Amino acid sequence: MTGVILRLSDASYRWPGRATFSLFVPELIVSKGESVLLLGESGSGKSTLLSLICGTILPDQGIVTVAGADITRLSGGARDRFRAEQIGVIFQQFNLLPFATVADNIMLPLQFAPERRKRVADAAAEAARLCTALGLPDHVSRTKAGALSVGQQQRVAVARALIGQPPLIIADEPTSALDANSQTAFLDLLFAQTAAHETSLLMVSHDPRLGERFDRVIRMEHIAQIGRAAK
Ligand code: ADP
Ligand code: MG
Repeated sequence: MTGVILRLSDASYRWPGRATFSLFVPELIVSKGESVLLLGESGSGKSTLLSLICGTILPDQGIVTVAGADITRLSGGARDRFRAEQIGVIFQQFNLLPFATVADNIMLPLQFAPERRKRVADAAAEAARLCTALGLPDHVSRTKAGALSVGQQQRVAVARALIGQPPLIIADEPTSALDANSQTAFLDLLFAQTAAHETSLLMVSHDPRLGERFDRVIRMEHIAQIGRAAK
């Protein structure tokens, strides 16, 4: 096994029908177990880059390798399964299913990821363990996710990303809606869980103050050529 979890090489992308924005990443490498903070102003293509890494969009040219596999060579369905196996995703708005219980939200990725499922002997017990580890009270696992506070929802989003130990966690501005204390608590939880399993973490933010917590800080304008032609 190599020491690299993620590699983009000469990857370019334009949103279909949008001539004004273009992204080109000559090279981006994240090592196994490494935590990386990706900084960049709004509209610089951070979320677009994360979508390329997750394989929800494909580069027009270049390669995106996750855990040794070039995801641009996978068919759509295989790419969806591969993402579910390899990547835990924490979305900006958490994207929980509001009418499903907390436990069902946390266990959801396992439905699409048999290898990840195999690492979990008892999914419900593991969901409960993660809730406890993340400071959520026991009874919360049977609550509907839509009834939770924002602070609780973010913990559930972390648990859903971590269950079954995917080797890579991707987080898109997960702390942007939180005050400073909640941000610190969020990162404490995330780092405690990723450190335990040599999980790699790529987190996007526009807040440079978070940088000291990470192994490495990179800026969009340093790793990418960003085209933003005037209309
Ligand atoms: P950031 O996350 O750094 O704020 P984004 O990747 O969201 O930046 O956006 C970069 C550019 O891509 C913007 O011009 C934005 O309008 C465009 N863009 C983002 N998502 C889409 C989409 N789904 N369809 C079309 N254009 C998009
Ligand atoms: Mg964004």
